[in-house]
Amino acid sequence: MISIDRSFFLIDKLAQTNSLTQEEYEYLICNQNKRTAEYLFERSRAVRESFYNKDVYVRGLIEFSNYCKNDCFYCGIRRGNVKAQRYRLSDDDILACCEEGYQLGFRTFVLQGGEDNYFTDERLVSIISRIKESFPDCALTLSFGEKDYEQYKAYFDAGADRFLLRHETADSNHYSRLHPKELTLENRMQCLYDLKKIGYQVGTGFMVGSPFQTAGNLAQDMVFLRDFQPHMVGIGPFISHRDTPFHNMQSGTMEQTLFMIGLIRLTLPQALIPATTALGTIHPQGREKGILAGANVIMPNLSPMTVRKKYMLYDNKISTGDESAQCLKNLCESMESIGYRIVVDKGDHVSFK
Ligand code: SAH
Repeated sequence: MISIDRSFFLIDKLAQTNSLTQEEYEYLICNQNKRTAEYLFERSRAVRESFYNKDVYVRGLIEFSNYCKNDCFYCGIRRGNVKAQRYRLSDDDILACCEEGYQLGFRTFVLQGGEDNYFTDERLVSIISRIKESFPDCALTLSFGEKDYEQYKAYFDAGADRFLLRHETADSNHYSRLHPKELTLENRMQCLYDLKKIGYQVGTGFMVGSPFQTAGNLAQDMVFLRDFQPHMVGIGPFISHRDTPFHNMQSGTMEQTLFMIGLIRLTLPQALIPATTALGTIHPQGREKGILAGANVIMPNLSPMTVRKKYMLYDNKISTGDESAQCLKNLCESMESIGYRIVVDKGDHVSFK
């Protein structure tokens, strides 16, 4: 079979069975081109629409602290970056972000931050309870890294609904080239299994085009997603940050990211898949193209304007203008222009409805 025919054959097989072998995923990733990508996206859009119609869910992202005890080589808020201006939001700041977001139509709030020990379990449980009491019709998503089972359980019991923790790469050698040695893939995976066991809607994901990543690594990521069956999958291009050890590394591409979104949609038909900020950062239409490749979630920034520029995970992260929640109207219009609609909804995974 010539390469394009084999690619079409594998895309059909994936659409029918939601599963390929690692070798088959790798074949598709290595042999992608404009034609196979279009073929993939036609199918990924159809699958997405069969579960979620033309609806796009929005999540209000609140970046509550950029202090971090970790030193991940790729990340702009790593401990070792002395140039980062550090900040923390108070409980009242966070509640005010939610209030503003609620008025705008958000029904999910995402508390994201570095791994900041100032936020003890007591403080976290208290803020989680306050948010859930104030906004009982909203979902609360957490995203602040690795904790142990009991800690995750305490946040869940306080009312948190979902947790985002990207696995970053499913290959332990690759993992160790992106992280200092105290961070291991094994622990990351343990966290993900704990979160699922507790009952969270669990999100994971990885960067596309991260340093040293191979097509084989991306295929391993797909096999992990196929087997783990997360409810949410966030992926975005790696974008270098000037004050990290990876400052000279090449960034990932939009095309590669879109292709991976298509593969993820066919592997996990019901998943919540965001068109991420990083995708919107490398291309002005990145998020729209992400939706057209099979994504169904957008996560606008709800953090106070004064701190937005300080939560710089990578260079040029979009943080003003269209990225601000106040510009939700623009986002609504741009989604309508491609035939989709932003909805006022918690946007649970279909298995949680
Ligand atoms: N500390 C939390 C969440 C904050 S970082 C955690 O560990 O989950 C959120 C995500 O941003 C990371 O999982 C990583 O995949 C992504 N990220 C970090 N640096 C990046 C970079 N330079 N380019 C693209 N994405 C990056």
